[in-house]
Amino acid sequence: MFIKIKDLELRKIEFDQNLEPGLIDMGADIQQKTPFHAWGRAELIRENRGARNVVEDIRLVGGFSTQVELRCARCLDAVKRDVRESFDLIYRPQGVDARGEESSISLAETEIGYYQGDGLLLEDVLKEQVLLALPVKQVCSAECRGLCPQCGRNLNMEDCDCVATMSDPRWSALEDIRKKLEH
Ligand SMILES: [Zn+2]
Ligand SMILES: [Zn+2]
Repeated sequence: MFIKIKDLELRKIEFDQNLEPGLIDMGADIQQKTPFHAWGRAELIRENRGARNVVEDIRLVGGFSTQVELRCARCLDAVKRDVRESFDLIYRPQGVDARGEESSISLAETEIGYYQGDGLLLEDVLKEQVLLALPVKQVCSAECRGLCPQCGRNLNMEDCDCVATMSDPRWSALEDIRKKLEH
C-alpha cells in the first residue's frame, strides 16, 4: 500500500491489512510463514519551520503480527518465531534535515525516518520493523550445541569423535612441541 502525501493532505488514512507471504521481501534468511497482519493509521503532521517553510511529515502509528522462519545461528535448523510489535514513527521528506535545522516539534517519543518523493510504501516500513524486532542472532534453543566445526555433524542429533582434536591454539602449540620431540 502506497501512502500518498496528496491523500494525507485531505484526510488521515486507516489501514488493516493481511499481506500474504511473499509480498514483503525480508531477504533470503527470513521466510514469512503466516499472513502479515498490519493495522494502524497514517496522518500528516505539518512542522512549521518559519513563515514559508512548512515540512510535511508522515506519522505512522500502528502494529503488526506475523510468524517468520529463520535459521538457527548455531545448527542452521529452521526456527519459527512469532513477531508482534507496535510502532509510532515519523517520516520526513528526504533531505529536509540536511541543513541541520532544529525541529520545531518534540519527537522524543518517536523514531524518525525519511520518505522520498510523494509518499511512503507501507511494506517497506513493515519490513524494517520486522528486522528491528528480531534478534541479531537467532538460536533454536539456549542449549543448542550447533554443528561440529570439523565434520559438520549436528551435535544436537549425534556426537562425533572430533572433540579430542579440537583446534584450540593451545592444543596446536602442544602438538608442535610433540612433533619436534618425535624428530
Ligand atoms: Zn540450533
Ligand atoms: Zn565432528
